[in-house]
Amino acid sequence: MFAANICMAQSINIAIFNDKKINSIAVNIKQGRYRIKSGNETLGEYKKGSIFHISRFGTELEIRDKRNFIGNFKKIEFVSVSDEGVLNAKPINPISEAREYDDNLILSCAEKELQIINKIDMEKYIASVIEAEGGNSAPDEYYKAQAILIRTFTIKNMYKHAEEGFNLCDGVHCQAYKGRLTQHNSILTAARSTAGKVITDNESVIIMSPFHSNCGGETCTAGQYWQKDLPYLQSVKDPFCLKSSYAVWTTTIERKTWINYINNSVSNNVNYQNYNFTFQMPHRTKFIIINGIELNMRSIREYFHLKSAFFSVKDTGKEILITGKGYGHGIGMCQQGAMEMARVGYTWLDIIHFYFRDVQVVDYKDLELHRFQPE
Ligand SMILES: [Zn+2]
Ligand SMILES: [Zn+2]
Repeated sequence: MFAANICMAQSINIAIFNDKKINSIAVNIKQGRYRIKSGNETLGEYKKGSIFHISRFGTELEIRDKRNFIGNFKKIEFVSVSDEGVLNAKPINPISEAREYDDNLILSCAEKELQIINKIDMEKYIASVIEAEGGNSAPDEYYKAQAILIRTFTIKNMYKHAEEGFNLCDGVHCQAYKGRLTQHNSILTAARSTAGKVITDNESVIIMSPFHSNCGGETCTAGQYWQKDLPYLQSVKDPFCLKSSYAVWTTTIERKTWINYINNSVSNNVNYQNYNFTFQMPHRTKFIIINGIELNMRSIREYFHLKSAFFSVKDTGKEILITGKGYGHGIGMCQQGAMEMARVGYTWLDIIHFYFRDVQVVDYKDLELHRFQPE
């Protein structure tokens, strides 16, 4: 079933409100006409403005409109009659903010909650993820590069939730998706112009395609931040992001908190209170050795919620002053660098080859199916 999905691949199934354990939801037709179906049975065709309440009782769903009880079913589908259908979905129990979704919704009973799946055109999904990932009014070539990275991730992870009956969830577990957003059309046009394109390595395997806000002038290798290196994720000197908003940052940590962190992260009886922790970090490294202690830059970043793991420290004896570069993990494409590349005339393909080494851009329909298997 999933193999067939990939070959046709016009649509993808995303579990929405996936971390919220929804038992009751209101669905409102915001745009277009919808047919409501259960299996092969059509319950009716409805126009813009129609509102429905769907609640789970045991293993059945109850659906009502404004006035009437419509029925109890195992599964209910909202099927858009045109290309332009938009639904507004508002969780009632528990209450949560409403979101808008393109295309179709499929509701059924999971073990202890409603399972709500947005069956959506792949490119509309990609456009919404791009917008959720930031970058308003960026140049088209940037949106195209970003669309290819997001499509690469999406196709690589198509089987992630296969046992639960959908492709991806809408949380950070897969990739954040908050439904249809505001600047849809310009981003969607850019995504559609790259439809089908994904990135593969030199063995024609779909790559991991990470990105981050700003690399601070130097991206990091996969192994500097993750467990192991990958040949296509090498460190790249990036002159394009240096003037962007996230290129440089500073923060101050209370010295007492810093020393506690140091004392807790080494298992010896030395009290580091009287040591000086000033260090410079001209280039990204995984560890820094200071006062005989090996400090992991990522661990410091996570503990103190720093913007990046690329920073220098000035220990004044009273405070720890931190000057850092970039925002995010630093692996793969630097979004602010890519935006600047697009602004000065580079193409989406130039951008991809700048941040990823020895890769190709291909149409995923031309790849053999075993290339999609997750590692
Ligand atoms: Zn997931
Ligand atoms: Zn950069």
